[in-house]
Order: sequence, then C-alpha cells, then structure tokens
Amino acid sequence: MYKLRGHHLLCLLGYRGMGYSKEYVENMTLVHQTLRENPEKWVLLVKGPDHLCEKFPHTGEYHCQNDIIYKRDAVILRKLGLRIGQMLRWKDIEFHIQRDMVPADIQSVCDSCSWRSYGVCEEGVQEMLEGKGLREVQ
Ligand code: SF4
Repeated sequence: MYKLRGHHLLCLLGYRGMGYSKEYVENMTLVHQTLRENPEKWVLLVKGPDHLCEKFPHTGEYHCQNDIIYKRDAVILRKLGLRIGQMLRWKDIEFHIQRDMVPADIQSVCDSCSWRSYGVCEEGVQEMLEGKGLREVQ
C-alpha cells in the first residue's frame, strides 16, 4: 500500500522520469512502475507528506509542508470526489480521473506548479481518458 497526497495522484500521470534528485526519481519511478504494472495496488490518501515526499532532497527548499501545496491537494481531491483517509485501488483512482477531469483542468488545479508548463501532466490526463493508464517511463 502506498500513502499518497492529493496532487501526487496527478503528478504520477505526467511523470516522465524527471524529479528533484536521483533518490527522488528512483523512488518515484518505483511507485509509478508498480502502479502501472499493478493497478490493483492499494493507495491510502493522506494529508501532507507522503511516500514521494519522503525522498524530497534535504538540499534546497522543502516545500512539502507549504500551505499552497496543502491547498493544491485539497482542490484536487475535491475535484476527484475523493477525501483524505480514503483507501482505494489505483485503478479506482484512474476511474475518478476519467470521470471528473479533462486535460485543461491541470491549468486551474495546479496553477502554482512550476512543472505545469511542460505540458506532460495534461498529456497524462488525456492518456488516462483514452484508457491507456500510466505511460511507461524509459
Ligand atoms: S502540474 Fe505540477 S502538481 Fe500538477 S500534476 Fe503536474 S507536476 Fe503535479
């Protein structure tokens, strides 16, 4: 079971192997690949730092406890009709994304994120809507 916060549900869709450090990327790749290969995997929705934040590098500014990030989690969970404390399978999270999102929603729910301009998260939502699941990271 993985503990994930709201906005990371969408970050996983746009994940292409980029991240804050080698350790962060290795961890995120493992989580991503596991969910991709096993959509039955359980996910617990948590408030605040999660399984991905654990590997946020100690160098640089730690933003995982910032109000703006908590707010982004809340906006995204609300958008998906999900709540903190809920445990569900990854495939059920995919269902919520397919039901409740369109790619352009990234522009509003993630408006303060610096990764947004790459366009990969919108691509990830689009691929989810097409039933493709998580894209393989090379
Ligand atoms: S725009 Fe930022 S917060 Fe939103 S899904 Fe992409 S990486 Fe995550």
